[in-house]
Amino acid sequence: MITLEHVDKKYIEHHALKDVSLDFPKNETTVIIGPSGSGKSTLLRAINLLELPEKGHLKFDDLDIDFSQPISSKQQFQLRRKSGMVFQNWNLFPHLTVLQNITEGPRAVLKQSKTVAENAAKKLLELVGLPDTANRYPNQLSGGQQQRISICRALAMQPEYLLLDEPTSALDPELEIQVLRVLKDLAAQKQSMIVVTHNMEFARLVADRIVFFEDGQAIYNGASKAFFDHPEGRIKAFLEAIS
Ligand code: ATP
Ligand code: MG
Repeated sequence: MITLEHVDKKYIEHHALKDVSLDFPKNETTVIIGPSGSGKSTLLRAINLLELPEKGHLKFDDLDIDFSQPISSKQQFQLRRKSGMVFQNWNLFPHLTVLQNITEGPRAVLKQSKTVAENAAKKLLELVGLPDTANRYPNQLSGGQQQRISICRALAMQPEYLLLDEPTSALDPELEIQVLRVLKDLAAQKQSMIVVTHNMEFARLVADRIVFFEDGQAIYNGASKAFFDHPEGRIKAFLEAIS
């Protein structure tokens, strides 16, 4: 389980996370939604230490990171081993083939042999519906295909949690559906995930839990069904405004 306790982050002119305390249960998909600029990306990046809050704790099983103290490279390594981030703009290495892109991390960090890493990578390519792309280079793939390879890259590291920040925002609707289908399958397999998205249909479909973020605070944190079936107040207005 990932837990944030009293996490506070100020940019020079903006208070991005205001005393945020949240749990992200294992084997569940938590979807973070909310207006632009509300702090969703900052929150997700803090979970992977890509953004460093000034205060609060990030707990991940037995790991306890105190943001008010310097973070050691050992803590950073331990944390990043447990959570895999998929970026909005796919981060594949252009000079490596698809197979090399996926196996690079497991071989270097998990010390997997070439054969073990390649067999695992081929299974992941099957999972995302791209078994024939192993020997291609990223620039020979569409955006949706590259995004699915990015998900394979993250999964190859066997992370406990997969973190995704608007995984489909750069894609046209048809490619978006391909990526969302993969995430839906992963959610059904109980892969622990935290996903930031503006796609409400997707949120409704895959989320076990919803975190609604506004102005640096979670104003809803609970079951997805209640969120969509019985919205109240600010959330009702938000859902009506975007539907
Ligand atoms: P969106 O839905 O548009 O992606 P978001 O909810 O992900 O928005 P964040 O990117 O977390 O929002 O930004 C939260 C606030 O912090 C915004 O007001 C933003 O302008 C500000 N902010 C984000 N990154 C920085 C930065 N590096 N320096 C200064 N301010 C920043
Ligand atoms: Mg964002």
